[in-house]
Amino acid sequence: PETANKIAAGEVVERPASIVKELIENSIDGNSTNIIVHVTDGGKEKIEIIDNGIGIEKEDIPLAFLRHATSKIKEDRDLENILSLGFRGEALPSIAAVAKVSVTTKAQGQNFGMKYVIEGGKQTHFDIAPSNQGTRIVIEDLFFNTPARKKFLKTTGTEVGYISDLVGRFILSYPDISFQLTHNNRILLKSPGDSNIKNCIAEVYGFEAAENCIEVNLTADEINVSGVVIKPILTKSSRNGQMFFINCRIVKSTMLSKAMETGYNTLLPIGRYPQGVLNITIAPSELDVNVHPSKQEIKFKAEKQVFSAVKNAVDNALKGISL
Ligand code: ADP
Ligand code: MG
Repeated sequence: PETANKIAAGEVVERPASIVKELIENSIDGNSTNIIVHVTDGGKEKIEIIDNGIGIEKEDIPLAFLRHATSKIKEDRDLENILSLGFRGEALPSIAAVAKVSVTTKAQGQNFGMKYVIEGGKQTHFDIAPSNQGTRIVIEDLFFNTPARKKFLKTTGTEVGYISDLVGRFILSYPDISFQLTHNNRILLKSPGDSNIKNCIAEVYGFEAAENCIEVNLTADEINVSGVVIKPILTKSSRNGQMFFINCRIVKSTMLSKAMETGYNTLLPIGRYPQGVLNITIAPSELDVNVHPSKQEIKFKAEKQVFSAVKNAVDNALKGISL
């Protein structure tokens, strides 16, 4: 099983940002309203995530590090209707296989907290410890036992770039959660969690974009498209400023980018790409999220309808607005 964990770890844990993604998703699934991420040296040295969610019950802590032990899917048919971000029960065992992980947590209604340490897949500590309600996870010595993977990591600056890009996406998709990201004790991102999308746009895209964003909200064929697009006076030479979420799950999709761009009609200067954040809400049964362990790829059963829904929502938002 140790080898299996190391192999699976390669699919889930590519770099520090993939760890941050899995841990933030767990915090969100645990109903946290405040999520703090501290990163040292691009996450190569240390990643720390503190949340105020439901915490993990004492007897469930070691189980959380067993492969396919997820608390989120009880029966096979639940797979058809996944609403939580995690469901494979793969993240924690995969991370613990290639790093030193410590979890300090206090579950709702408990009088005391617990601390659990696991290194390279082996438990080294499990005892009562002081803790606020919620969960604090510290990852150290990433890839200490897989030197080839460690060599593959990029410079501190590049790894931090991936992490802050990722946290920015979470800020935009969860305006009701307050996020903070620090790198080497310096604050990089901080969102208020006050449900105001404009504040989130200002934090991630800057004030100019916040001043020039237009709200999008349209439902067709039982597909809702909401969020904001930024006026075509602020375009980019790449698609970096485009973010898409399906049922709050971060996704990458050229199809969605093209749909959004088509919605701008003739407003785009040649060779320029629009910026925007779009959330697509669709019945989970219309999706196949189980495509890849990193869960960023998604397949739609009705691709054409999704394309039209996005295009029309953007087109509709831009219509009659002074640009
Ligand atoms: P998955 O998210 O697919 O269920 P993970 O390996 O990511 O699998 O997590 C295993 C389990 O650990 C989760 O199902 C959950 O019960 C628990 N867990 C992990 N992190 C947290 C957290 N921050 N708050 C509450 N529970 C958590
Ligand atoms: Mg998870």
